[in-house]
Amino acid sequence: MLPAIFSITGVHRQFCEKYKEHKNLTEDPISLSCFRQFYYSKFPYLKKLGKRTDFCDVCCKLKTTIKDKKSSEENKTQAKISLEKHTILFTEARKAYSDHRRKTAQENGYYVLSMDYAENILLSNLLDEPGTFYFKTRRKVDIFGINNENTNEQLNFIIDECFKIKKGPDSVISMLDHYIETYIPTGSSLILYADNCCGQNKNQFLIGYLSYLVKIKKKLKHVELYFMIVGHTKFSPDSHFGLIKQRLKISVCESILDVIGENGIIRKSSKNNFCIAYKDPFLETVNFNWRDWKNSQEYVIDTLLESIQKVQIF
Ligand SMILES: [Zn+2]
Repeated sequence: MLPAIFSITGVHRQFCEKYKEHKNLTEDPISLSCFRQFYYSKFPYLKKLGKRTDFCDVCCKLKTTIKDKKSSEENKTQAKISLEKHTILFTEARKAYSDHRRKTAQENGYYVLSMDYAENILLSNLLDEPGTFYFKTRRKVDIFGINNENTNEQLNFIIDECFKIKKGPDSVISMLDHYIETYIPTGSSLILYADNCCGQNKNQFLIGYLSYLVKIKKKLKHVELYFMIVGHTKFSPDSHFGLIKQRLKISVCESILDVIGENGIIRKSSKNNFCIAYKDPFLETVNFNWRDWKNSQEYVIDTLLESIQKVQIF
């Protein structure tokens, strides 16, 4: 891995300067294009270090302590032990996730899903943006993705600003419930991955809802719920959101009509990205409902939580 500031042009310039100085020449010994060709033929495996976002605070803090010349030997040893423990934790979590993804799950009636909220989209999105846009508040559109890890197909729920509710258990469970009712056959088993956000996922309501599907509604036979380790939460929904973001960079979106539908940016971003809008702008039909799951009378969370077999230490 080469440092992020590395550039072939810079190396070419340095090489030419040194060479000219050494040989007392005035002209460059090699053109930039020839140098580039030579570089790629000789060092095809060298890569530039890109911007890394899956880099957690704990790793960063511990690595700094270990490298810091001012920190005491005792602190360094302690940091090394902590880093080792932390590395084992996220490596094992990543391995479990990869193993689940590899499972030919659907054949055995097992479905592996992962879900997350994306950064919201701001509309309108124009390629030639007038300067005054900077001072205007644009329309925020929420995206929530549920990925089927076995097919790698992602359904993106698109919620226009006027239809959104607070991001929390009610919104997450409403969309998950729509997905499960539509795409998961009764009697299947489910493995669900979510990020480590207490407000949206790591709460009694989601756990209660999943227990309700198994114990009361008998929709599912078995459910396992996993949370990604804090700071190491990159998973499939993020890669699909990345493709949407890339598509958005090169597209003009004046309204939600340019986002949804067969010709919208979601469908055009990847063959595996699908979308469902909260309300169809043409037919005016509501495609999925917000429900007050937190106060639902259908299930009593306390009794359901008692029936959970395995307790995971977060
Ligand atoms: Zn870490």
